Amino acid sequence: MRELIVNVGKNKQYFFVNQSILKSRNYSTQTQWKGVVGLEVHAQINSASKLFSGASTYFGERVNNSVSLFDAAIPGTLPVLNKKCVEYGVLTALALNCSINPVSLFDRKHYFYADLPAGYQITQQRKPLAKDGVLEFPVYLPSNKFYKKSSRIKQIQLEQDSGKSIHDEEAQRSLVDLNRAGVPLMEIVFEPDLEHGEEAASLVKELVLILRRLETCNCKMEEGSLRVDANVSVHKPGTPLGVRSEIKNIGSIRGVANAIDFEIERQKKLLSSGMTVVNETRNWDAGIGETLPMRDKEEKQDYRFMPEPNLPPLHINVSNKETNRKNIINVIDIKRLIPELPEETRNKLTSKYNLLPQIVMILVDEERLLQLFNNILNKNPERTPKRVANFLINELLTLINKDIIALEQCDDEIEIRVGEIIDLINNQDISLINSRLLLEEVLKGNKLPSKELMEERGWKQMSDIQEIKMLCEGVVKNNPKMVAQYKAGKHKVYKALLGQVFKVSNKNANMALVDKVLKELLQKEKF
Ligand code: ADP
Ligand code: MG
Repeated sequence: MRELIVNVGKNKQYFFVNQSILKSRNYSTQTQWKGVVGLEVHAQINSASKLFSGASTYFGERVNNSVSLFDAAIPGTLPVLNKKCVEYGVLTALALNCSINPVSLFDRKHYFYADLPAGYQITQQRKPLAKDGVLEFPVYLPSNKFYKKSSRIKQIQLEQDSGKSIHDEEAQRSLVDLNRAGVPLMEIVFEPDLEHGEEAASLVKELVLILRRLETCNCKMEEGSLRVDANVSVHKPGTPLGVRSEIKNIGSIRGVANAIDFEIERQKKLLSSGMTVVNETRNWDAGIGETLPMRDKEEKQDYRFMPEPNLPPLHINVSNKETNRKNIINVIDIKRLIPELPEETRNKLTSKYNLLPQIVMILVDEERLLQLFNNILNKNPERTPKRVANFLINELLTLINKDIIALEQCDDEIEIRVGEIIDLINNQDISLINSRLLLEEVLKGNKLPSKELMEERGWKQMSDIQEIKMLCEGVVKNNPKMVAQYKAGKHKVYKALLGQVFKVSNKNANMALVDKVLKELLQKEKF
């Protein structure tokens, strides 16, 4: 494959990445300094109400319209733990191979900020919900290198989100929106097991796929439902890890890769010229493509962690037996809810259809694409997995990338038409070039059956051997100069002669046949 299709979280677009640009990024181990990356992901738990109050978590609600008294930290209000959030946290942790702590604790983490009315965030510091997991994911580098990687998970904790401050520069004032205050989050803390931006982006992509399958987070990065902080350092292999910086506010999967790679290069340059890396928080500015130190340079903060006195320890039954203790969550019940995860789907596709791992990865990256593949393939036994996959990836995704239609808008009707086009190609009724035009019309909303549409547009492939012979003879007759050149050994002109036949056939000739007939004809002419 000449180009790589990368699925970018934000706006769900497909980008054709120029390989040569990315190849120039140095992912080799020859350089002395090596990047080290550990991610912290905040995923909003898919719950209609907040972690400790009944206020709604609906995105797009009017400012300060879903704020309970507790969220506003009115004295005397008490937190009530949302059971569903715990269940979803446990489900996510199990799917990520974590062990669940039979008892976990809530703590207060203090800091002063306008969007945090209580002056502290309730989180889990001493004993989180889960620990010691691992996430395996495929990495497909722009250099076409493909490998599997894994990152250990240190812990998963439940915590509240904070509100949002809006700074109105013109009116010289700051406003606070507390709708997000108390929204349930699970923070997934990864060990520093990654080496560069592409690995980090691949990890986030896999995590998004898993959370979507579990339906525990909608993963809309553009709405802030999934946020990635990247800790980045560089060191020389075999020596202790270097001082790290933490990049906040990365708003897309592509941003994760770009921010980290920028930061690794920045640190390498600093260290190579004898300077040091400062342990600081930096912002990713996607516009200029740089990480910048955050203006509010914090001193090393003392959060004054203390046990949350209003929430008892959280007990979860981790044994293999259900208990009849009321209101306790049983891990074995939740284990049963784990659906097929993306890696399992990929393995199935690979072993069943013998497709390339890169192809399988692209199919599984998009739910609707995978559906289209399965439905189209299973509808007609004559369709081969390779042809269906190639057509969807090379043709359908290419047009979708041109913004004609979104993948999710490819409905059942389009699914049928695409299957028909694949059959037309299979039966040699249409050339690949014209099949693209046909597909474009279908995506633009033409509802005619593909075969009818093809005939109406005059795109039916000419496969009649007699007709093709006539065309070839005509071209040979009308191009004596080129034929003479060919005979004299200048075989380069052959392509031009093929092109002539294609042209006079109105781009409809079956070129495999033309090739055969024309060669025979020129051979004959020779003697
Ligand atoms: P802290 O207690 O200071 O928050 P943690 O050990 O919890 O530090 O790590 C926070 C995050 O930073 C984790 O995701 C971890 O993988 C990452 N991290 C720790 N040390 C490094 C390092 N030297 N380089 C890159 N990432 C690191
Ligand atoms: Mg930490």
